[in-house]
Amino acid sequence: MVEAEGVTLEELRKRMAEFARERDWDQFHSPRNLLLALVGEVGELSEVFQWKGEVPRGLPDWKEEEKEHLGEELSDVLLYLVRLADICGVDLGKAALRKMELNAIKYPVKLCKGSSEKHAEINDHGTAAAAADSSSTTNIIDDGV
Ligand SMILES: [Mg+2]
Repeated sequence: MVEAEGVTLEELRKRMAEFARERDWDQFHSPRNLLLALVGEVGELSEVFQWKGEVPRGLPDWKEEEKEHLGEELSDVLLYLVRLADICGVDLGKAALRKMELNAIKYPVKLCKGSSEKHAEINDHGTAAAAADSSSTTNIIDDGV
């Protein structure tokens, strides 16, 4: 049985590296090959949802084997992502935390709460708000991205 509690990206990274090394698969794990494998797995993940229409959160009507299959495809995506980051020399955990910080700046709660608008639309509103309110913080989201 797999010990799942508290699993970390670092643990997955090490296990994937070991898995590939034991099989002499490092020779195949180039960034491009891993990216294509990742995209293929995203396709397999999409197939799990294909033709089901919108489904409620928690998937209450799904059979146990369907959820298990979903877990397998989610894992394939995660594991290839972890491996790709490792092969590219990117610390995925650090990069993800940094990206979340950037997203928090890009989408400040004050301007985004309850809204699904994209950054450019929010920025437009923020700029309009800034013109009306000189204390606005919209300058921090005007990052040009
Ligand atoms: Mg798969």
